[in-house]
Amino acid sequence: SLTEKRCEGCGVALQTADPGQVGYIPEKALTQDVFLCRRCYRIRHYGETGSVEQDPDAYLKRLDEIAEKDCLVVLVTDLFDFEGSWIPGLSRRIGNRPLLVVANKLDLFPPSVKEGRLKEWVFQLMDEMGLHPADVVLCSAWKGLKINRVMQTIESLRKGRDVYLIGTTNVGKSTLINQLLKKAGRAKEEMITTSPYPGTTLDAIRIPQGDGKYLIDTPGIVRNDRMSEWVSPKELKKVLPSNTIKPRVYQLNEKQTLFFGGLSRFDFVRGKKQPFVCYLSNRLYIHRTKLEQADAIWEKHRGKLLSPPADLSTLLPLQKHVIHLKGTEKEDIVISGLGWIAAGREKAWIEVWAPEGIGVSTRPSII
Ligand code: GDP
Repeated sequence: SLTEKRCEGCGVALQTADPGQVGYIPEKALTQDVFLCRRCYRIRHYGETGSVEQDPDAYLKRLDEIAEKDCLVVLVTDLFDFEGSWIPGLSRRIGNRPLLVVANKLDLFPPSVKEGRLKEWVFQLMDEMGLHPADVVLCSAWKGLKINRVMQTIESLRKGRDVYLIGTTNVGKSTLINQLLKKAGRAKEEMITTSPYPGTTLDAIRIPQGDGKYLIDTPGIVRNDRMSEWVSPKELKKVLPSNTIKPRVYQLNEKQTLFFGGLSRFDFVRGKKQPFVCYLSNRLYIHRTKLEQADAIWEKHRGKLLSPPADLSTLLPLQKHVIHLKGTEKEDIVISGLGWIAAGREKAWIEVWAPEGIGVSTRPSII
């Protein structure tokens, strides 16, 4: 009977009563030959590992637990939304643990972006955030690029220790885990075991490392201050790039405006005529207009021509960020989660409007 059955993936006792609890298996799945709890079923069939910790306090507590262990910490980040990949309080918490940063979604960057430059930039950001990683590896979990490099670097840095994978949601941690499972070259079902954390019912994926040590996945933490949180899942496809970004160049005169869908607005207030190169999702509509008409067009077309989002009620008010480019070096203006606009080496006064809480910043050009 069911009470004796255990999930063949993770060994947890199966139950049909509560989909919200561990070990749930739908009644109708009991007619199949292989018994898998829903979580293991999803992992095998859809490559989902996606457990998510909603409670920030519980998440930080778990980080503290990890920080007490003799282990290598691997922080998975999204190169395209580095700010959104950041775990608040991380430096304070894992301070002295050896850290490897895996910067994912390399495939989104056009080939003109030099990898060395990207890596340097990641090191610099980590430094600003108070962390000093032993190494940074760029990869694309989605395309399976540089996965070997990730594995080799983990192997050389872990020095016989367990490895903990951490990251915010949507950085591609699950996709990476699946690539690592594939490369490990063993049957997936061998890899899945439970590892309940104290005080929670969440499981984690553990991949044996061959010396009695494991690579352990942890649930991602949700950040709710990212651009991607403000649009519907369907619209998200327009906002988040899924393919290599094709740069779009605009030669702007002063007093011209670019609208990025209905999410953000870029006013070139003053400066010489110059090119601005937009690195945004290829599917995000860019509309160019005169600054003096911008307010009226915004009012009239937002949610329609200027979308996403189509539903304005969910969007926070826009906040203005004044940016003065000194023209001494090439700089990128970054709108967190949306992309960036590369400016030339010219003086410019720019005002960027983005939903409240969305980070707008500048960095030395990564091209
Ligand atoms: P998790 O929440 O960190 O586990 O993230 P997922 O693995 O579920 O991935 C989140 C989203 O990012 C999904 O839409 C993935 O298809 C996408 N994604 C993951 N890895 C990559 C990558 O290397 N490149 C690109 N372009 N997208 C990726």
